[in-house]
Amino acid sequence: MIRVQGLTKRFGDSLVLDAIDLEIQQGEIIVVIGPSGTGKSTLLRCLNFLERPDAGYLEVGELRLDTQKVSRREILALRRCTAFVFQNYALFANKTALENIAEGLIVVNRWPKAKAHARAREILERIGLADKADAYPASLSGGQQQRVGIGRAMAAQAEVILFDEPTSALDPEWVEEVLGLMKQLAAERQTMLVVSHEMGFARDVADRVIFMEGGRIVEQGPPARLFSEPRDPRTREFLRKVL
Ligand code: ADP
Ligand code: MG
Repeated sequence: MIRVQGLTKRFGDSLVLDAIDLEIQQGEIIVVIGPSGTGKSTLLRCLNFLERPDAGYLEVGELRLDTQKVSRREILALRRCTAFVFQNYALFANKTALENIAEGLIVVNRWPKAKAHARAREILERIGLADKADAYPASLSGGQQQRVGIGRAMAAQAEVILFDEPTSALDPEWVEEVLGLMKQLAAERQTMLVVSHEMGFARDVADRVIFMEGGRIVEQGPPARLFSEPRDPRTREFLRKVL
C-alpha cells in the first residue's frame, strides 16, 4: 500500500538519501534503526514532503506521484495520508489538548468545528486524556504532550503514521506510557513507520526492522532474525553498541 522508489535527497554536496526503495504493507509495523546522521529523519520527512526529495516516486494508497512533478494539491493529499509524530511533540502552545487534536481536521480536512471537536473528544478518550481536554500543553507532562501528539496523528486517520524518535525527548518516567499507546495502535494494525532507539519496542512490536546507514537501507528483516543473526557487519557493529 506504500511504495517508495529511488527516493533521493541531497543537502548541498552530501547525499543523505541514496535512492531508497521501500514497500510497506497495510497494517505493517516497521521500526527504523541506525546511527545518527544517516538519514532516518530525512526519509520520514521526505515521505511527508516536510523536505522536498531530489528524485523518486511515491505511492501511498491511491496516490501515485513523481516527487519532481508534484502539484500543491498532491502534496496536500500526501500529507492527508501520512501523519507525523515529532520528537518534540510540536503542539500549538496556545491551543488546548482538544484544539490541538481538532486543528488538522479543521484546517487540512476542512471539517466543521463541531464535528472536529467531537472526533477530538473520542480520541482523547482513546489516549486516556479525556479529563485534559481543556488543558494547555504547558500544564501537561511530557508523556501527556506526546500522547496528544499521537492523538493528533490518530485523528487524521492517515494511511500511515510516521514517528520520528517519539520518546527521545521524554524524561524516562514518561517513556512507557507513550510506548504503551504506540503498542495499542500497533495492536489495532495501524500502519506505522517508527524511527526509534527503543530496541525492546522494536523486538516486541515490529513486523520488520530496517537498519539504515549512510542514506541506504543496509539490512532489514523480522526483529528476531535481525537482532540475533545480523548479516551485514555494519548491522552487527551497530547492534553490539545498542543491545
Ligand atoms: P538521522 O535522523 O538518521 O539522525 P538526519 O536525516 O537528521 O539523520 O540527517 C542526515 C544528514 O543530513 C545529517 O548529516 C544532517 O546533518 C543532514 N541534514 C539534515 N537536515 C538538514 C538540513 N535541513 N540542512 C542541511 N543538512 C541537513
Ligand atoms: Mg533523526
